[in-house]
Amino acid sequence: RRQKHLACLADNAATGDGERVWLGANIGSVEEADKVAQYHLDGIGLLRSEFLYMAEGHWPDEARQLSLYRAIARQLDGAPLIIRTFDFGADKALPGLNLVEANPALGQRAIRLGLAQPERLKTQLAAIVRLAMEYPVKLLLPMISLPEELEGVLAQLEQVKAELAMNPPLPVGIMVETPAAVLMLDAMADKLDFASVGTNDLAQYCYAADRNNANVSPHYPQLSPALIRLLHQLSRQAKALELPLSLCGELASEPRALPLLLAMGLRSFSITPVRSAEIKYQLQQYRQAEGKALLAKALACTHKRELLALLNDCVNR
Ligand code: PEP
Ligand code: MG
Repeated sequence: RRQKHLACLADNAATGDGERVWLGANIGSVEEADKVAQYHLDGIGLLRSEFLYMAEGHWPDEARQLSLYRAIARQLDGAPLIIRTFDFGADKALPGLNLVEANPALGQRAIRLGLAQPERLKTQLAAIVRLAMEYPVKLLLPMISLPEELEGVLAQLEQVKAELAMNPPLPVGIMVETPAAVLMLDAMADKLDFASVGTNDLAQYCYAADRNNANVSPHYPQLSPALIRLLHQLSRQAKALELPLSLCGELASEPRALPLLLAMGLRSFSITPVRSAEIKYQLQQYRQAEGKALLAKALACTHKRELLALLNDCVNR
């Protein structure tokens, strides 16, 4: 099986019908940037910037942030780099700030923290704007639920650009990680260039089950009829709005989920790099006509067990 997968490693990611799929890497350090070349990926679909800053042990100043980003961009040979602004809070501690909250997964995390502490977020936005003067960069905003949050960040971004007197090309996207973001996509789409589904969190907030709490892991299934229906609604919404949609959660690395995601129209994913060969192999097994029929059946499933039985039958590992 491994041999079969490895044979696909150097291929461009594409479906069995020959449709090209954009396949990016999820990374969290400067060192991992070389995985794009090593695993023949199309770029970085998700740079989890908070890990760069955690490795520093303190909040890096703007110049240091820029040099970390440059060290990554330099290794990419012109391939796109999608930088997600810091996702501190929840289980990731922000250097220099001890957030103690009763309910951290529902607390001041990610963009909520950035809006509460604009001085910090603005240093990051400034470093990203400067980088965008030199390299093809996209900006990705985590945990946006309300249009007001997006507008708040965009206002900060405009201020930063004005202060720097720089206006490089910098496409902006949001992570879709809450049901509210799915429901309100139409109110945000005209301000966005793309959106990227974070299924790890979208599942957590869909089931209201902490993704890191083993006590509730049976209530946090990776694949369920509820999640498939929610993703289907999202993909239809994005299509109607002509908003490019990709997916960077772990679900993209689940062979049983891939045919459903492809049938929903997704053609852009970002994955843990080491899964590259296996995912390319799975993409090559996909045929649109079969996929559509499978999706229709999956959408009619009511129980997890039923959905998994359906998908287990279809996946050729
Ligand atoms: C996600 O939520 O699916 C995601 C990609 O972000 P993270 O795992 O960093 O929360
Ligand atoms: Mg997330």
